[in-house]
Amino acid sequence: MGVSIDLSGKRALVTGGNRGIGRTIAERLAEAGADVAVFARSEESVAEAARALSERGVRGLALTGDVGSDADVERAWDTLMEEFGQLDILVNNAGITRDGLLLRMKPEDWHAVLDVNLTGAFRWSRLAARQMLRQKSGTIINISSIVGVIGNPGQTNYAASKAGLIGFSKSLAVEVAARGITVNVIAPGFIETEMTHALGEGAQAEFLSRIPLGKLGTTGDVADLAVFLASPMSDYITGQVICVDGGLTR
Ligand code: NDP
Repeated sequence: MGVSIDLSGKRALVTGGNRGIGRTIAERLAEAGADVAVFARSEESVAEAARALSERGVRGLALTGDVGSDADVERAWDTLMEEFGQLDILVNNAGITRDGLLLRMKPEDWHAVLDVNLTGAFRWSRLAARQMLRQKSGTIINISSIVGVIGNPGQTNYAASKAGLIGFSKSLAVEVAARGITVNVIAPGFIETEMTHALGEGAQAEFLSRIPLGKLGTTGDVADLAVFLASPMSDYITGQVICVDGGLTR
């Protein structure tokens, strides 16, 4: 007999849920029965993603905005509460890269990556944690990267943001644990998306040679773990960093 995860009656929000890893997470949460809101900047693609979620028989909600903006996140939060009235699952997935060696890195590229990848998660988590503390339930899943665990030349800004997310999550996990709220981190390795296509073939081949399982990951590999972490099956897991990387990080 298979194990099935039922998230019906749960309300989720996925930042960057309109494409890539976030899109697959949003779809799989919806497949498990959760209503899912998607928050990202591209209005049209956010609307399309929300429509596709609704076609699965759950409520899909489109929220347009920039995780780098306090005002956008607060406005989206108000709409989310008007429409959903509760939040059970927050997935902080929106992320960007602005790669370059440290000596050539422009301060604006440093600040942009930290502001989106790390402070974006702070903005959403602060509002969500307040609501979840009231509900006495909920889970927050932060999408970091193995680069935040092992580092990567040319990505000091990205690695700092992703390592920052880990420290943030471990600390928040303890702050909210007494009310039954869990906070965990998924650290994907090399997953096939637009972000990794942008790296070029040379870098891709180099990564591939270091992966013990001998293949790139899929967005589904990450999403399956997110669904597990969003489900009651993981109620006793908090403050953890789980790498989905084909064995690259050991
Ligand atoms: P993509 O580039 O495919 O998607 C990024 C998503 O984030 C988009 O939905 C984008 O939507 C959204 N986004 C970016 N900036 C903002 C912003 N300022 N405000 C709101 N939304 C924003 O990336 P992936 O799917 O590959 O990556 C998803 C997450 O997984 C990221 O955090 C990434 O760092 C992490 N990750 C990815 C790995 C990989 O191999 N692909 C490996 C390890 C970690 P829009 O442009 O419409 O705003």
